[in-house]
Amino acid sequence: MTPHISPPRTATVAHAWGLLESLTDPEIPVVTLRELGILRDVREGAAGLEVVITPTYSGCPAMGQIEDDVKALLQANGLQGRVVTQLAPAWTTDWMTEVAKDKLRAYGIAPPHACASQASGSANVVQFAARSAKPEVVHCPQCGSANTTETSHFGSTACKALYRCLACMEPFDYFKPY
Ligand SMILES: [Zn+2]
Repeated sequence: MTPHISPPRTATVAHAWGLLESLTDPEIPVVTLRELGILRDVREGAAGLEVVITPTYSGCPAMGQIEDDVKALLQANGLQGRVVTQLAPAWTTDWMTEVAKDKLRAYGIAPPHACASQASGSANVVQFAARSAKPEVVHCPQCGSANTTETSHFGSTACKALYRCLACMEPFDYFKPY
């Protein structure tokens, strides 16, 4: 599902990739933009270095901060670049790496469920039926209990829903899949 990411082509591009790979999400400082699938490409454009990012959803307020962070990091290392926001193909939670999901869980955010495209053929029918019949089960990132309930469809940011675990009573964010 993950679109092809171009390999580094020039020393400048390779340098920029090396720097940007460690850049973390402004809202979730334990995961990098690369791991989240937001950082798509670094390339030499007609007007110089271009950093391609795809917002997690249109109008995500963090994107302005991400753009500033990218530019600041490049400038601090003697590079000039511009940020290109690419809306198509649209970001999906499938682009998030398993490493990122593990880090989210450790941070106290329930990672998104895999989309139907990652499930086996026979599971698709079950998943579809379950999706239309009842809300998905979100496991508590603290204790792993499936006994959780959504308390607000919009958590600390619009990307997340606020849940509460009924086993350990801890509230937590759930990164909504789409
Ligand atoms: Zn719990």
